[in-house]
Amino acid sequence: GNPYISVNKSLHDPEYLIGRLKRAQRLHRSTENWNNYNILKSANDGHTVGIKDNILTRNLPTTCASRVLKGFCPSQDATVTKLLEKAGMLVLAKTNMDEFGMGSHSMNSAYGPVTNGDPRRQGALSVGGSSGGSALAVALDLAHVAIGTDTGGSIRLPAAYMSLVGFKPSYGMISRYGVVPYANSLDTVGIIAKSAADIRLTFDILSQPDASDPTCLTTGSRTRIRMAKNRRRVSVLESKIHFTPAFTPREKAPPIARARARNMFLFQRSFVRRIGVPLEYNIAEMHPLVRWAWTATLSHLQTYGFEIVPISLPSTKHALSSYYVLAPAEAASNLAKYDGVRYGAPRTRPSDDDDKAGTLYSGYRHDNLGPEVQRRILLGNYSLSAGAMDNYFIQAQKIRRMVQKDFSTVFRMPHAFHDYAPVKNGVDVIIVPTAPTPPPHIQFLKDASPVESYMNDVFTVPASLAGLPAISVPGPRHPDFPWKAERAVGIQVIGQYGDDFSVIYFAQNFL
Ligand code: GLN
Repeated sequence: GNPYISVNKSLHDPEYLIGRLKRAQRLHRSTENWNNYNILKSANDGHTVGIKDNILTRNLPTTCASRVLKGFCPSQDATVTKLLEKAGMLVLAKTNMDEFGMGSHSMNSAYGPVTNGDPRRQGALSVGGSSGGSALAVALDLAHVAIGTDTGGSIRLPAAYMSLVGFKPSYGMISRYGVVPYANSLDTVGIIAKSAADIRLTFDILSQPDASDPTCLTTGSRTRIRMAKNRRRVSVLESKIHFTPAFTPREKAPPIARARARNMFLFQRSFVRRIGVPLEYNIAEMHPLVRWAWTATLSHLQTYGFEIVPISLPSTKHALSSYYVLAPAEAASNLAKYDGVRYGAPRTRPSDDDDKAGTLYSGYRHDNLGPEVQRRILLGNYSLSAGAMDNYFIQAQKIRRMVQKDFSTVFRMPHAFHDYAPVKNGVDVIIVPTAPTPPPHIQFLKDASPVESYMNDVFTVPASLAGLPAISVPGPRHPDFPWKAERAVGIQVIGQYGDDFSVIYFAQNFL
């Protein structure tokens, strides 16, 4: 055991694991009996999955890594949990996280931080957050895939820091029923795995309409997205322009030519032709290794035949501040219910405080919510208060619109639900780094200010504000430096709303 992994005490406890496996075997046996000629129900049978602790799992605690929900064992499964189990996947354990998803390094958990390496020693690295436990479970091969949530980068950041693949779908693709809300208008359920192929497999299972979640896309809206996709035509000229066969089909191709032909074949099947590179993302604070990985990826893609197009997303520089007004505002409202009376773990203060209602609530919340959560609640309630609303919340909503509009004026595929004018010569995907730096050292984070940790989300929040699908894949390794965990860089692919498949397909075949 690694005591510092702290995946809610469960993933590194062999007895617990054996218990879970036995239960799974029992379940399997019963399905076999019931359907005894079909032993393997699906290709996913026996795949193990870790689930972030803010997603409901029947018979397993769901605490959001918070003291207020300590010991809470829901009586229902979230839709995603149900779908995974139905597909034959085995839910192994709940994974540690930042309390209620608030954080970028998985350091804000009531169960103690999740770190990559022993935090008492020098050199321990951030696993990213808030789905850090999910990422670590996959990185340590404790689970094949892990499910997390991504509100402003919580899937993509841990994936980038741990050299994994992390996918945040379009808003509404995966049901949020049974997912404890942080900021409802931004929350998505996402997947972390070692390869884009695993992501695709899991996404196929999870991407379903669900009547229990009113924001989950219905069959009708999914059809509408498919129609929007079909409106994106790749011109004949464009699809032929790069294709120069290296050999005639009859002769046996040498291996390199075969590989090239395969790439060409994949390229021709792909909808993606033009890659957008937003100039605003090239910020001065970007780590040189990150900038190197970004340009190396782009030049590698150019050799495949993709066209690299510089684009401009001018609202990007305001996206981060907009996010950190909107997300805390929604969180403050969502977390109001944890007052220790209607909801939450039993009260912790002696009863003589009870006569003063003020102390009853605030005392409970002061004792049981972590400092970051309290900070966000204060921030959220302030920006929603009558005096500040117009200057903060309303402005932030306006910026959010501008961010959405920026994206819709560069993509070739039209937005299925907005009426922005169609874009001629638009791009198919956007490629940017996932985070401005490789994973920071824990030592360094201990004296970092909250704002410094908010800065890590600068490249992930724009896609969240616009509800777009985005995947983070490990970037190329620099040939001049031996690879180390502290040099991990993530490269992010962002697509138009509803174009989740292209984003995954692209990451799977070209990155
Ligand atoms: N780091 C961001 C935040 O703290 C994102 C968190 C998330 O996506 N859940 O809000």
